[in-house]
Amino acid sequence: MTATTTKPYRILLYYKYVPIENHEEFAKEHLAFCKELGLKGRILVAHEGINGTVSGTVEQTENYMNTMHANPMFSDMVFKIDEAEEHAFKKMFVRPRSELVTFRLEDDINPNELTGKRLKPREFYEALQQEDVIVLDGRNDYEYDVGHFRNAIRPEVESFREFPEWIRENLSQHKDKKILTYCTGGIRCEKLSGFLLREGFKDVAQLDGGIATYSKDPEVKGRLFDGKMYVFDERIVVPVNYTEEATVVGKCLHCGTPSEKYINCTYDFCHNHHIVCDKCEEEHGGYCSAECAEKDEQLQASRMS
Ligand SMILES: [Zn+2]
Ligand SMILES: [Zn+2]
Repeated sequence: MTATTTKPYRILLYYKYVPIENHEEFAKEHLAFCKELGLKGRILVAHEGINGTVSGTVEQTENYMNTMHANPMFSDMVFKIDEAEEHAFKKMFVRPRSELVTFRLEDDINPNELTGKRLKPREFYEALQQEDVIVLDGRNDYEYDVGHFRNAIRPEVESFREFPEWIRENLSQHKDKKILTYCTGGIRCEKLSGFLLREGFKDVAQLDGGIATYSKDPEVKGRLFDGKMYVFDERIVVPVNYTEEATVVGKCLHCGTPSEKYINCTYDFCHNHHIVCDKCEEEHGGYCSAECAEKDEQLQASRMS
């Protein structure tokens, strides 16, 4: 299927779990390569693989994908492509990491050896409607808050490494039930679903390619996803559900008005990423709480004296 390109830029989202030797050296060379192409974005490189999101012109991104696919290590890497009017990042980073997703398990999961069953968008859509399934959002709470699959569980985790403990405390009694997991592009679920299987959950499936792939399925059209998808670039949120059932589920932290605007708390030592409405942003000065406003005022006062 070749879609007619109408916009001058593209945003790519991709990952691949594959052993990369000397990943620090690889990261350095990859950064030089990306800069030479004119791409902007953020790429993580670990001994276990690569995870990236970059923006560039149609030609630049085409070059990047072709070069990556010519490398036997990445020949089957799947790129999710969004069209855009401009770059979605300001700079180009390629960072070496010890893990692609920060799980910090003593005995790490290798998704090439252990991972949940992969469901295509249509299969996932059908599984969502089965009785007695548990739908687990594999992302952080602030990502869930602006949009998620209907009836999905909102894990109380602020970062991925909190998942193992949260699962042991909250899901252990459901090991015989069918569990469906999903995340933005699929990379987190590869490990999360593997972890669930290792914990003794019997029937674990993951949304292959994540919400980013689900939203582009021409048949499913993002059905059963409420709100928007949080993304880690300047767009912040993107649409998923292209049917008339699309809704806004984000709520202003202060007054509860429907909103999809994210800001970081003005108080530098808090920086809480939260949703606000325009009115409250002005009224509260961008602080997430009265406490933060007060602390910042004290800090400013102490700096002036
Ligand atoms: Zn408000
Ligand atoms: Zn705050």
